[in-house]
Amino acid sequence: MELSDRVIAARLRQAQRVVVLTGGGLAAESGFPGFAQSQTGPWAHYAVSELATPQAFVRNPRLVWQWYAHRRALAAQCQPSASHRALAHLEHLIPEYLLVTQAIDGLHARSGVSSLVELNGSLQRSRCFESGEVFTSWEEEGPSPPICPHCGAALRPDVVMYGEGLPQRALQRVRQAVGQCEVLLCVGEIGAIDPVASLPFVARRAGALVVSIAPDESIYTILADHALAARPATALPAILAALRAPA
Ligand SMILES: [Zn+2]
Repeated sequence: MELSDRVIAARLRQAQRVVVLTGGGLAAESGFPGFAQSQTGPWAHYAVSELATPQAFVRNPRLVWQWYAHRRALAAQCQPSASHRALAHLEHLIPEYLLVTQAIDGLHARSGVSSLVELNGSLQRSRCFESGEVFTSWEEEGPSPPICPHCGAALRPDVVMYGEGLPQRALQRVRQAVGQCEVLLCVGEIGAIDPVASLPFVARRAGALVVSIAPDESIYTILADHALAARPATALPAILAALRAPA
């Protein structure tokens, strides 16, 4: 069943607590290439296990750091899309709002969302390999990878690498918010990987309305109470406009 933008807007207007879930679909809208699409030029010769695992970082921290620096540079060339901007505006209209993303490109943060969980981390952050202290800026000109200014250990990208679990505290915050929300909005293509893929079930058990806005069918569109088969960059600004119009 498809709901019109106006009807989705009406449900959002009534809601006090809304959780939005995004993933690779929004990254693609902004032109941020996925892992495999980023493996161009010299990077094409490496396996995932050489570039993006904690073991690879221990073996060859310089190579792994430079791989993520390459992806950070790709992200820097991208701009937040109409979807990112609409979801940032939506935060101001919902009393309790949480945006949860699988994307590591940092585009939601750049679009100005403050209530944000980046479940897979962000290319815009690094963290001390020893203490876990997180940094948002570091010296790129010196050693590669850069050195923790507090203990001298290497800095690693603050992203979830292959073989690593999702950060437990962030996941707990997300589960709690989804378990209390009235609307769960699944936007664009989202990786169908647990535990994220189970969030629509959590929302439905809590009595929330699950809405999906995506052009292609997925587990999220199938699980949704209402699936809007549309591009988020088109649908979200229309929903936002309807939400702002007098009821
Ligand atoms: Zn340190």
